[in-house]
Amino acid sequence: ETASLDDHEACLPKLPPFDYSPPPYAGPSVDEILAKRKNFLSPALFHFYKKPLNVVDGKMQYLFDENGKRYLDAFGGIATVCCGHCHPDVVESIVNQLKRIQHSTVLYFNHAIADFAEALASKMPGNLKVVFFTNSGTEANELAIMMARLYTGCNDIISLRNAYHGNAAGTMVATGQSNWKFNVVQTGIHHALNPDPYRGVFGSDGEKYAEDVQGLVDFGTSGHVAGFISEAIQGVGGIVELAPGYLPAVYKTIRKAGGLCIADEVQAGFGRTGSHFWGFQAQGVVPDIVTMAKGIGNGIPLGAVVTTPDVAEVLTGRSYFNTFGGNPVCTAAGLAVLKVIEKENLQSNAQSVGSYLKERLTALKDKYEIIGDVRGRGFMLGIELVSDRQLKTPAKAEILHVMDQMKEMGVLVGKGGYYGNVLRITPPLCFSKQDSDFFVDVMDYTMSKM
Ligand code: PLP
Repeated sequence: ETASLDDHEACLPKLPPFDYSPPPYAGPSVDEILAKRKNFLSPALFHFYKKPLNVVDGKMQYLFDENGKRYLDAFGGIATVCCGHCHPDVVESIVNQLKRIQHSTVLYFNHAIADFAEALASKMPGNLKVVFFTNSGTEANELAIMMARLYTGCNDIISLRNAYHGNAAGTMVATGQSNWKFNVVQTGIHHALNPDPYRGVFGSDGEKYAEDVQGLVDFGTSGHVAGFISEAIQGVGGIVELAPGYLPAVYKTIRKAGGLCIADEVQAGFGRTGSHFWGFQAQGVVPDIVTMAKGIGNGIPLGAVVTTPDVAEVLTGRSYFNTFGGNPVCTAAGLAVLKVIEKENLQSNAQSVGSYLKERLTALKDKYEIIGDVRGRGFMLGIELVSDRQLKTPAKAEILHVMDQMKEMGVLVGKGGYYGNVLRITPPLCFSKQDSDFFVDVMDYTMSKM
């Protein structure tokens, strides 16, 4: 007997049930939007899929297209939507604030801004308690780098190869991947060897990589530096968790050279890594400056720099402000985000469900040669696809096929890494065990057909 199509359908993985139907959509079609993008939006914009996806609604860990088809969002708006799409508490907080005042300049007081600064400071270790608000991660890193330079009177900054820190002049230079850099003047930044356990020259020996930073200080600078900036887990760079022992050794070197240590928590912050609220905490260090964005506002444009009162002093008496940074509507979102993370135990969910998901993905590695590495922590996981395990040849074409097939089956996953061959799993932190099973079953099915 041959199986009917219905039998075949019956054995496909099924999206976990979810009690929400979006309202009907009456907007323009995908093709109409595509035409507008071509004519009126930046030609640099790109999309992953053969047939572009038009998302018209979002609810928690799910997105809906114009036909009401539901997708499991395992990318979370590039690690941004931490509480879930349109989380009711976040929406309520925004709407309530919006009804009272939409914007106040830095010249007047507003409690929504001060309340959030206080709440954010309470999440920081050490003496990190002065907050500067920005609109994005790029702006936060620009400010942090500038503060380190002002504080130390030095220009040299050490950053990592394979890092991503933003797309404005200074942060683009700090970024350590040619595919995210333009040919602007590149000065004052030295890129250290990446402590990448999978592709790096010293494997998982963090202290060995740290010696390269000492080398850069000794041979590339006057011996005095402004600082060091790094992510704890590189996001755009393909979910690369810095080798253990790296940050404590580097922080020591940098501080000896008079510099400040900057932690870029734009992706790894706000409980995403599960084990800790901030990514750097996994290596037991306390930075001098922490930058953040993405998860801070659950998708509302907001960024922040948090530093010590001593470092913050460098801006005293200088003319410096940011028109929208710390807009009360955005900070109202931020305050709601912190409450939701706590109320719904999202950090511990990221830890337990993230570990479960990683375990199941690691098991798939035994089944499919194309999976070269499964890595990351909590809900910041990466799967590096290779066409040859020994040579670690990036499977660049195959990854697009995997993503396309998974999308057809209702799963959205991200992509990154210098070679563009790493699947990035950074879902909203409410992602459940059932969602993880569905994700893995869909990936398993997709790979079994390749
Ligand atoms: N830093 C990190 C680690 C990032 O991943 C990003 C963006 O992806 C940025 C900085 C820049 O943030 P934004 O895109 O909000 O300017």
